[in-house]
Amino acid sequence: MNKVRKGIRAVVHKACKAFDHDNTRILDILREVQGNCGCISGETMEMLAGELSSHRVEIEGLVSFYSFFSEKPKGKITIRLCDDIVDRFAGVDKVAKVFSDELGIEMGKTSPDGNFSLEYTPCIGMSDQAPAALINETVVTKLTPQSVRTMVRTLKKNMDPSRPVKKKGDGNNANPLINSMVKNNIRRRGDVLLADRLPIEAGLKKALKMKAEAVLQEISRSGLKGRGGAGFSTGVKWDLARRAEGKERYIICNADEGEPGTFKDRVLLTERADLMVEGMTIAAYAVGSRKGILYVRAEYAYLLPYLESVMKKRRKRGLLGQNIAGKKGFAFDVRIQLGAGAYICGEESSLISSCEGLRGEPKNRPPFPAEKGFLGSPTVVNNVETFCCASRILDRGSQWFAGIGTDESTGTKLLSVSGDCAHPGIYEVPLGVRVEDVLDMAGADDPAIVQVGGAGGDMIGRSSFHRKICFEDLPTGGSFMTFNTTRNILSIVDYFLEFFIHESCGYCTPCRVGNVFLRERIQKIMGGLAEEADLRYLKDLSTTIMMTSRCGLGHTSPKPVLSSIAHFPIVYASLIRERTDGRQASFDIQKALEESRRIAKRQSMIYDPVYGESKD
Ligand code: SF4
Repeated sequence: MNKVRKGIRAVVHKACKAFDHDNTRILDILREVQGNCGCISGETMEMLAGELSSHRVEIEGLVSFYSFFSEKPKGKITIRLCDDIVDRFAGVDKVAKVFSDELGIEMGKTSPDGNFSLEYTPCIGMSDQAPAALINETVVTKLTPQSVRTMVRTLKKNMDPSRPVKKKGDGNNANPLINSMVKNNIRRRGDVLLADRLPIEAGLKKALKMKAEAVLQEISRSGLKGRGGAGFSTGVKWDLARRAEGKERYIICNADEGEPGTFKDRVLLTERADLMVEGMTIAAYAVGSRKGILYVRAEYAYLLPYLESVMKKRRKRGLLGQNIAGKKGFAFDVRIQLGAGAYICGEESSLISSCEGLRGEPKNRPPFPAEKGFLGSPTVVNNVETFCCASRILDRGSQWFAGIGTDESTGTKLLSVSGDCAHPGIYEVPLGVRVEDVLDMAGADDPAIVQVGGAGGDMIGRSSFHRKICFEDLPTGGSFMTFNTTRNILSIVDYFLEFFIHESCGYCTPCRVGNVFLRERIQKIMGGLAEEADLRYLKDLSTTIMMTSRCGLGHTSPKPVLSSIAHFPIVYASLIRERTDGRQASFDIQKALEESRRIAKRQSMIYDPVYGESKD
């Protein structure tokens, strides 16, 4: 066995041993191996399969599924430039060019010396400080061509990814365990989550004085609905898990916010981590669970040391572990699971698959996770904000919480506001707040389009700015993007479809293929080649995708298409031509002939009455 091979085998063995050869921890194992070896090659996969009594095909399936793993060698430093729509409008292309020029590599490539890889990545949760990038795990924000030039030159000199952090961000971002330039940008604090001084562990202490059933009733009476966007009743979910058959019950906190434009969990993880774990502990008490998992998206790996320290301190203070807060017999602990770059893992059953060490593919439902979730046991999956709300409800009471918001949408909501506005950031507002009020608070610049709820949300125009953000009108998991009159609506829709095509897990045909077809038609409209029938096609296909897809991604991916057609009919009408020459508008003869002209090295002599003579 040669030296390199021996070295890889030692790394693989050490990583597997560190996680007790537990296949459910395979994401951690792969992360460790990739960190040490630069990639997970075919040979490494064979070794992993041997150590874990698995098969190479299964390891390969994981490596190809999660975008943060790679079979090919990556640079010692990987720069992932955020490519979401807000970053694009903030000038990410200029920044990308400087990265590319300074490193001497194209996007998607690794430098010949193996030092740097440069690539685009979908939203990294920094839309309030775009353009942003990850340098390995270090976040760099508000990039400009000048700052990138300086950054790359420094990196080339010392190869230290944390070096670009000169000025630290606000609040806990300056904590030595986070040490980040990220800013919280908290613009509005409400009473529930971001009030200046929250009592410590008050909710948990009160919960532990109550019977578990009474805790459940309190959560149900508050009207709390899951803050991820779907709005399922938290009380009902907890009750289902409590009643379901199973030796173990699990509490999973979904901190995998990958929806373009959302970043409120980032702020809660930074500033309210204890409140979140307190909520998980209350849930554990209510449903009878001993084990919890906090699933954190890979993009927030920079928060990991801090979050681990929060858990450690809680164990020391008797708030995790045995006999929690002195309550005899009540045991609960939480492990942190880092994701590996897959948007679909934000969907609860995919997230469970990922926690089980599988590809993050959605599971068939029913049974629902509350009945049969992690490793087949009843599992409560809620997001960070929901658990934080639960702590506050137990402290202040269900009536207090239900008195905020609307009848059907109680409490406050954290909005991640980004785009064309003077004050992007986090706003804690009562549910039921009007879109126009949020735009005023954020100092929106000439707002013409608002995307509520991220890529799979509703795209609305001025005539709908009176509408309310709440489950009964415009629901959102937290994303609120505003765009001014200079922005091209179709290019926003096109971006969202590109995003969904990239993030579809590919399991079902309507989602895998349908979104590609939707995008083709949107591009056809953008190219001025569409006719009325294309709009009908878009509507019909959108409905089919929504009705026949297996999970939430396919159920929502056509929404930007449908809502933009509904709210911006004049824009679409202006781009659709009525052909009077009897020709098929969808056939672009110039494009069709392009390849043959290139091969024959001939110029076009065809004159098109609509597009004029070819310029080639
Ligand atoms: Fe996968 Fe899309 Fe089907 Fe969901 S809808 S299972 S993401 S292919």
